[in-house]
Amino acid sequence: MESAEIRRRWLSFFEKRGHQVVPSASLIADDPTLLLVPAGMVPFKPYFLGEATPPHPRAVSVQKCVRTPDIEEVGKTTRHGTFFQMCGNFSFGDYFKERAIPLAWELMTSPVADGGYGLDPERLWVTVYEEDDEAERIWRDVVGVPAERLQRLGMGPNFWSMGVPGPCGPCSEIHYDRGPEFGAEGGPAVNDERYVELWNLVFMQYERGPGAGKEGYPILGDLPAKNIDTGLGLERLAMILQGVQNMFETDTLRVVIDKAGDLTGVRYGAGEDTDVSLRVVADHMRTSVMLIGDGVTPGNEGRGYVLRRIMRRAVRNMRLLGAEGPVVRELVDVVLTTMGEQYPELLTERRRIETVALAEEAAFLKTLKAGTNIFDLAVTETRAAGSGVLPGDKAFLLHDTWGFPIDLTLEMAAEAGLSVDEGGFRRLMKEQRERAKADARAKKQGHADLSAYRQVADAAGPSEFIGYSRTDGEST
Ligand code: ATP
Ligand code: MG
Ligand code: MG
Ligand code: MG
Repeated sequence: MESAEIRRRWLSFFEKRGHQVVPSASLIADDPTLLLVPAGMVPFKPYFLGEATPPHPRAVSVQKCVRTPDIEEVGKTTRHGTFFQMCGNFSFGDYFKERAIPLAWELMTSPVADGGYGLDPERLWVTVYEEDDEAERIWRDVVGVPAERLQRLGMGPNFWSMGVPGPCGPCSEIHYDRGPEFGAEGGPAVNDERYVELWNLVFMQYERGPGAGKEGYPILGDLPAKNIDTGLGLERLAMILQGVQNMFETDTLRVVIDKAGDLTGVRYGAGEDTDVSLRVVADHMRTSVMLIGDGVTPGNEGRGYVLRRIMRRAVRNMRLLGAEGPVVRELVDVVLTTMGEQYPELLTERRRIETVALAEEAAFLKTLKAGTNIFDLAVTETRAAGSGVLPGDKAFLLHDTWGFPIDLTLEMAAEAGLSVDEGGFRRLMKEQRERAKADARAKKQGHADLSAYRQVADAAGPSEFIGYSRTDGEST
């Protein structure tokens, strides 16, 4: 089943069951606590917090998401992308567990001919929060999941809260058993690559109050109106329904891998390291296009830095694969073609997206060209000194003079088998910031910068020093 069809079925299943279809919000969160949208519930947060009244008690969406904390997993696990689409159904004080659970099961297991995803129920495992007897009873007695495929898990994976006073509650997750070729048996509690997590159902039923202690904010009691918030990863379901090994081999990402392969002459499947790079390129180029599409531009802070870091990693991985010249135009084009069907605004914005991406690539290639020799020299010197740690002052020089972000130095050093004295680097950065602040202060006060005179004085030695009074007339 194609990704576009998975999405259509999702929306239509819930629409037929009384949910209002809500289009994906921008990746730029309308929320000062978030840089980017990491989950489908974000646009609905004001309803859950009671800050706004929902126009409809039930909603369904397929939301664009970016999770930067997952960046290191990309290409290494089979199921983490920096960009993905979260299918969600939501109830604002309307139905609760007794309806959300059977609905999820129906959609997952009903035959394809009847509008479902047609998954084999014997491959599905369910986890519940260890104290949530109610959810366990519904899975077991209403849905009929056998006890041996039901597992209880603790707070970490199966209890949801926002880290602030407000709604919270237990979760229940549906996992798919991909079979023994993905490792040992034992259920999702022991093997999350074999029993891949597909769908998280959050039951917001309690309220946390102020006064956080060790256990977080204390639970005050039941919410007056209980809510449902669910999230299913579209790419993960596509991976199962398309019978491929990982999310990067699904229809919308595989074409990007193939383009990267054409551009570098490296065949996907030829080796583990090159495969990881190809998957990183596919993921990161798609994320970059989606971010630029929503108006993010590369920069050194906040969202701009997220984009810069992700795009530069894509370009660097292309070079590790052997690309020498620019590659971004062609990669952007395939992403636009595959994602444009579901997000037509990408096509109307094509020119702008290409311009931003190409400019960033050009700037980065220039940086790389200038800094790589300096970097290589630093590596040679470090090794010659018998050390495995690239000194902090070298990382600082690369940053300050050659425009190498520290992440780039860290990654290149790791590839060369070295670590970096990050503490030393951060100290030098801090000193530089303090110097800049002091300069700015001095300028603001309208005084000359005395430290410059002092330096001259120190260099010249005391005997020739004729005193500040001669030069600025007010210091000693
Ligand atoms: P995992 O444990 O696999 O990292 P998660 O528990 O962090 O997933 P949730 O926060 O529960 O994920 O998000 C709901 C759903 O969104 C997941 O069940 C999964 O299908 C999907 N999802 C989460 N993170 C990613 C990601 N980085 N790439 C693709 N899909 C994801
Ligand atoms: Mg996760
Ligand atoms: Mg999880
Ligand atoms: Mg989860």
